[in-house]
Amino acid sequence: MMPVSAEFRFYEELNDFLAPERRKRPFSLEIDRGRSVKDAIESAGVPHTEVDLVLVNGVSVGFEHVLRGGERVAVYPVFERLDIAPLVHLRPAPLRETRFVLDTHLGKLARHLRLAGFDSLWHNDYTDEEIAAIAVAQKRIVLTRDKGLLMRRAVERGHFVHETQAERQLAEIVRAFQLEGALRPFTRCRVCNALLRDVTREAVAGRVPEAVRAALERFTECPECGRIFWEGSHYERLRRILRDTVSP
Ligand SMILES: [Zn+2]
Repeated sequence: MMPVSAEFRFYEELNDFLAPERRKRPFSLEIDRGRSVKDAIESAGVPHTEVDLVLVNGVSVGFEHVLRGGERVAVYPVFERLDIAPLVHLRPAPLRETRFVLDTHLGKLARHLRLAGFDSLWHNDYTDEEIAAIAVAQKRIVLTRDKGLLMRRAVERGHFVHETQAERQLAEIVRAFQLEGALRPFTRCRVCNALLRDVTREAVAGRVPEAVRAALERFTECPECGRIFWEGSHYERLRRILRDTVSP
């Protein structure tokens, strides 16, 4: 196929994926005639999972739109709280329940998400293939800081995590997926992701420090690992984080 070129302009945080000289300005990108706009976008380094709207010569198109050369292409990220209903959304319809699978580097974020109540699979020896397969089979959103993982064909739903610190990452995810109303703090085991069940003070005798048992009334137990949880200092800390997240 003979290479031709089209003029591309990426908006907002999509610029983070571009070489510095291409950020926040139009640039010419060589494309193979007949290739899809999705292929062209990924050849510039931007994972398709981050893109929600593509305008070619001002008209909203799907990922499979074929470029012929000479077009002006504007590429927008997932809009937050902005109504673009009349245009073609490239993201699949939102999932009824937001569930995640995280790459091996995001263990701390996985624990934070679980504390906030979100079903979040993470294991320190997942391969990229496993993560992509889990995402497809269980309709989970891939969270990663690895662009290559998001560019895998099988991955439909994903999010490139921009923040590097776990508490800020949690806030980023809650905002990006508009999960403020879905927070269920302290309902899920932060170690193994299982839903916790309430247990009585009597049932935890000998399993928690006696001073804690005497002082508190509410205890929960993980059915998977048997850990007992109570409202200790990490509760207060997470509560503060969640509060800041919901009303920054
Ligand atoms: Zn557990």
